[in-house]
Amino acid sequence: MKTETSNCYAIADAHLNRQGMSRWKSGHPWIYRAGVAMVEESSGDEAIARVYDARGVVLGMALLSRESKITLRILCREDIPVDREFFRARLKSAMDWRARIFPGREAVRLVFGESDALPGLILDRYGEHLVIQTMASGTDALEDELVELIRELHKPDSILARNDSAVRTLEGLPRTVKQLVGTTPEWVSYRQGNRTMRADLHRGQKTGAFLDQYENHMMVGGLARGRVLDAFCYTGGFALAATESADEVIAVDSSKPALKQARIQAKINGITNVQFVEANVFDFLKHEDRQGEKFDMVVLDPPAFAKNKRELESALRGYKEINLRAMKLLRPGGVLVTCSCSYHLSEPLMDEMLSRAAADARTTFRVLKRRHQALDHPVRTGFPESRYLKCQVLERMTG
Ligand code: SAH
Repeated sequence: MKTETSNCYAIADAHLNRQGMSRWKSGHPWIYRAGVAMVEESSGDEAIARVYDARGVVLGMALLSRESKITLRILCREDIPVDREFFRARLKSAMDWRARIFPGREAVRLVFGESDALPGLILDRYGEHLVIQTMASGTDALEDELVELIRELHKPDSILARNDSAVRTLEGLPRTVKQLVGTTPEWVSYRQGNRTMRADLHRGQKTGAFLDQYENHMMVGGLARGRVLDAFCYTGGFALAATESADEVIAVDSSKPALKQARIQAKINGITNVQFVEANVFDFLKHEDRQGEKFDMVVLDPPAFAKNKRELESALRGYKEINLRAMKLLRPGGVLVTCSCSYHLSEPLMDEMLSRAAADARTTFRVLKRRHQALDHPVRTGFPESRYLKCQVLERMTG
């Protein structure tokens, strides 16, 4: 057995078969179970593996997840020591990059997993409070060490582990929320553009807010005018930004706690031209259409209707319905900001769905912008899963 201890970590040996080899060569950072011929371990709890091709040549290093369908997540494509220094350098580079690109930004994703060469790790910053998520068992096993390094590098007031996301179940990991460092207050405030936001890091969606929409919120702030509808508003990221330049904003969500939080945020900022409505968006859009209501901008930011490939067909029907109805509510010259965070709904499929919706609504639109998730959630080449959020800006044409 070729197992060894390199610095502080025990290393297993993982041998790829032909399928795993072609995956490795494709540049994708995940190798599925079917691509792994054999894993040789000594203790059985190794979090890291040295990866070999079918002839026994070392390809590189990977995180090892025994329970997951994704057995290996590539750390590097060379045989180098994966130790504390290795992780320190990667964390530092991820944090330094954000400090350089977004100086002074108070809410920012500091680490976006594979796109920061730190597979399965999410680290979000809200002011001086950090939230960590470990989405893979290899990363989870290293959590204590990663937290120590993060403390050294960032010196936050608190770190909360929001390890309650559903993907952990696929990794055979428990779903928990744990205070790891200091005390995370019930509400954490941060600035977003001209607004003071307040997130619930303990219970809010994702790590408290949709940081992936940060730049799209700001864009809507600049583009809104007249009468705006924010559908699926959550705590009002788009709506509160839109109030800057719109006359009137109506924001709709089905979640009572989210709306309560949205109203508090409006109050903190002294905003009076927004109204938050509790309703099912599908019913609300139908109702507004029947009433002959018209808007100058509609924002659609639904939850992921397709969580997997199997759900895609029914998801497409849902996306088409809300887009068709929103299109009918827009005045000529009105703007539709339409989002999808389903990775499985590709951009071409989304385009096709939007064309059909426009045709069925007897309207025509032109595409002003094709946007994606915020830049602190970068897309990695060879890893299409990292490009998940689409946000198109369409304008209703007169003709
Ligand atoms: N636009 C928000 C994020 C939206 S997340 C932002 O930028 O911060 C999706 C939201 O859709 C959640 O708040 C959820 O409560 C809401 N939701 C899901 N299904 C819904 C439905 N059928 N009707 C109304 N709201 C719904």
